[in-house]
Amino acid sequence: MPINYISTRGDAPTLDFEGVLLAGLASDGGLYVPERLPQFSMGQIRGMRSMDYPSLAFEILQPFVEGSIDNEDLRRLIDGAYASFRHDAVAPLRQLDTNQWVLELFHGPTLAFKDFALQLLGRLLDFVLERRQERVVIMGATSGDTGSAAIEGCRHCQYIDIFILHPHERVSEVQRRQMTTVNDSNVHNLAVKGNFDDCQAMVKSSFVGAGFLPEDRSLVAVNSINWARIMAQIVYYFYAAVALGGPDRAVNFSVPTGNFGDIFAGYLARSMGLPIDQLVIATNRNDVLHRLLTSGEYARRSLEHSISPSMDITVSSNFERLLFDLYDRNGTAVQGLMQAFQGGAIQLSESAMTRARSLFSSCCVSDDETCEEIGRVWRQCAYMLDPHSAIGTFAARDSRQSGGNPMVTLATAHPAKFPAAVAASGIAEEPALPPHLADLFARPEKFTVLPNDLDAVQRYMVETIPT
Ligand SMILES: *Cc1c(COP(=O)(O)O)cnc(C)c1O
Repeated sequence: MPINYISTRGDAPTLDFEGVLLAGLASDGGLYVPERLPQFSMGQIRGMRSMDYPSLAFEILQPFVEGSIDNEDLRRLIDGAYASFRHDAVAPLRQLDTNQWVLELFHGPTLAFKDFALQLLGRLLDFVLERRQERVVIMGATSGDTGSAAIEGCRHCQYIDIFILHPHERVSEVQRRQMTTVNDSNVHNLAVKGNFDDCQAMVKSSFVGAGFLPEDRSLVAVNSINWARIMAQIVYYFYAAVALGGPDRAVNFSVPTGNFGDIFAGYLARSMGLPIDQLVIATNRNDVLHRLLTSGEYARRSLEHSISPSMDITVSSNFERLLFDLYDRNGTAVQGLMQAFQGGAIQLSESAMTRARSLFSSCCVSDDETCEEIGRVWRQCAYMLDPHSAIGTFAARDSRQSGGNPMVTLATAHPAKFPAAVAASGIAEEPALPPHLADLFARPEKFTVLPNDLDAVQRYMVETIPT
């Protein structure tokens, strides 16, 4: 029986996988979640030990897409997505200490874990669009990692034109060049003379009034609320756990967290039968989730810029998916909470908080602690962490409840993406870009500078897309 998808606010049409792939937000403002989760027995999970990454991905993802994508097609799309990774294991484990491990999720084309989802998402979209004989426009705003991962995921797609807005002269040079040196004709980098919030506001307004596009085009979002992105991230939790003795011993994960997409995938893996003991939410000073677990209050605060910019958020958009489960999948309750949250803060019920605390632990890590951690791991293990991953290993040690189980930190980015943070940690050696990006600074760039003006951006898009 195919899995259907329902909205967290309980008042939007139920969709199949193809529908949810093309949908962004549900029409009631909620996020789509699967109506039920596939379950894997201990025996089935043991059987995953001998599988390579694409084979395992097929096992995990097939039930989610059943009815929309045939097995052979799915297998081909998965193989293509992970063939673009530069390590044969796709997601290799590295040991730092007794029972302390790092899962390297940065061997994809853009050196951050977002490639795991976006390499697959681009291929899934192109596949269903070809079948429907439709073209779409993807529009997104980025302050860093998401933009380049989305561009790499879509650059070879025949049925997609992608427009990524970044704040002109306000993203790091590595991150900008990873976007602007892609020269495929369907890729459009727009440097907006404003800040990231301006870019994001333009994208939001464009989705509300998508009528600015020609009639035969619709607008698709690839931000982290897209269900297919979450789904793809479930796979590596299984992959790491079975490599470390799962399911016959439980494994802990520490996850550098921003929008709560990555760690929510870990929560789903556990709900699908994988024995996971601790799931640690590791945050920088933008610690809305840590404060929630500590106080029971979910409250927005102003943004603080940190040395781990991909986790600089004020609210975690995917948290609504967890709320739905914490409130027994009662869409009306979630609707009410999210409405009340417009005021900036909500208090969760006693029973929701008891449940949340039994599912997650949390730790907030300062910039100073992050630098100390990068330096410490470098001195003790000769291993270089990026600032996001260092928040993860710090939190892993700080939050550990017992030493018996392996603790796996998700290494979400390659240190060469964040050379300033590495230098600030007192490491003299510069983190080198891997060979496929070694000439990044010599490649020609292509981008268009536009004023901070919605009409100008939309006009540019309409004039640029092929008819
Ligand atoms: C996006 C990102 C994160 C945060 O992931 P979420 O799914 O938003 O919680 C952490 N580290 C890096 C390097 C990222 O790019």
